[in-house]
Amino acid sequence: MSDTKFNPWEMACQQLDMVAEKIKLDPGIHRVLRNCKRALEVSMPVKMDNGTVHVFTGYRVQHNVNRGPGKGGIRYHPDVTLDEVKALAMWMTWKCAVVGIPYGGAKGGVVCDPKKLSLAEVERLTRRYASEIFPIIGPEKDIPAPDVNTNPQVMAWIMDTYSMDVGFSVPSVVTGKPISIGGSRGRNEATARGCVFVLMSAVKRLRQNLAGMNVVVQGYGNAGAIVSRLLQDQGCRIVSVSDSQGGIYNPKGLDPLAVLQKKTETGSVIHFKDADKVTNEELLELPCEILVPAALENQITQANAARIRAKIICEAANGPTTPEADAVLDAKGVVVIPDILANAGGVTVSYFEWVQGLQAYFWSEREVNIELRDIMQRAYADVHAIAEREKVSLRMAAQMLAVGRVAEATVTRGIYP
Ligand code: NAD
Repeated sequence: MSDTKFNPWEMACQQLDMVAEKIKLDPGIHRVLRNCKRALEVSMPVKMDNGTVHVFTGYRVQHNVNRGPGKGGIRYHPDVTLDEVKALAMWMTWKCAVVGIPYGGAKGGVVCDPKKLSLAEVERLTRRYASEIFPIIGPEKDIPAPDVNTNPQVMAWIMDTYSMDVGFSVPSVVTGKPISIGGSRGRNEATARGCVFVLMSAVKRLRQNLAGMNVVVQGYGNAGAIVSRLLQDQGCRIVSVSDSQGGIYNPKGLDPLAVLQKKTETGSVIHFKDADKVTNEELLELPCEILVPAALENQITQANAARIRAKIICEAANGPTTPEADAVLDAKGVVVIPDILANAGGVTVSYFEWVQGLQAYFWSEREVNIELRDIMQRAYADVHAIAEREKVSLRMAAQMLAVGRVAEATVTRGIYP
């Protein structure tokens, strides 16, 4: 259902403009927040396995670092653009502010199709990218993490490359690392676990119960596959899931672990038996209580919003819903738990990982999950209270809270010089 003219940066600015008007943001501060502090574009020659040299393009953007170092994932995808990375960096600024962790917003991206690269090529590309963005990253400057098509191994290569450049090991330059080199317990599941915590808060306020609810999940990667498993543990029925190749639907319920096994073996969920095939567009419109977009931006738009049948949308993905679709969903009474709140569990446990690394003192998974639960529940309660008081959607409330906090930090620090 994606719109080809869609520009994520324009959408992020449009959302900011709506919030600025609502909170009567000072026009000068609004101008500051409407721009990214720093955007680095790099070109990376990489020797391919067949001996040829291919030049890849990559980006690292820091939107705002007034509340702390930049924080945000790195995406490997053929459709990465500077405007997409800028939007994702701005959303990271708001996300860190909503959950109250001391970071600014950043994001990285490399234009590539990792499915067409060998593991050795991905490693050489990653190490070259890490070298190129070296001047602007670091534990006090900007700390990357995984995003679409990157994983703990990619983070390990970035950590190793950075460490080789400075001459000693610097685990806290990235988060989402393997546990063997200073990763945090619970980080892999954190984004999905955070989604489950905010869903629990949302259904409690609706005086309902997660158990027995039908769930549809778009995107079966780190966020989507784990959220499916954790929601099944809560008694939900996962009726449909998808990946970039398409989706599967069984109203009687799918076994998330068996689906994951099939995806690992064959490369896609579509080879799973005991289910009907659906397209990604059809999947979004299936009857269900909870819809979890966990793939890319621009999936729920003006074109399909009116046909969405979910009662609750929990945005594991960043930017899946356009402002036009938001208005339609709001009018229909659909509860949309916005991305900057719903998927903030990932960056929250990244923060725990960074803190653990800096202190060289590591927590149990139980401690990580309890702290995560407290932060997600408090953030949900804060956002919900604003939504009730101001009679606005959860997205507007979350952005009012976040933009207000970032604006306050910006005003307090003052405009340099
Ligand atoms: P991932 O690479 O692990 O998985 C992405 C999944 O989406 C894959 O299964 C892929 O096949 C599928 N996909 C890609 N294009 C699709 C399409 N057009 N339709 C349906 N499915 C499609 O990535 P991830 O880390 O799970 O990230 C997914 C989303 O969650 C992104 O928007 C990301 O920014 C967001 N997110 C991730 C984290 C994290 O910690 N990993 C944290 C916060 C937000």
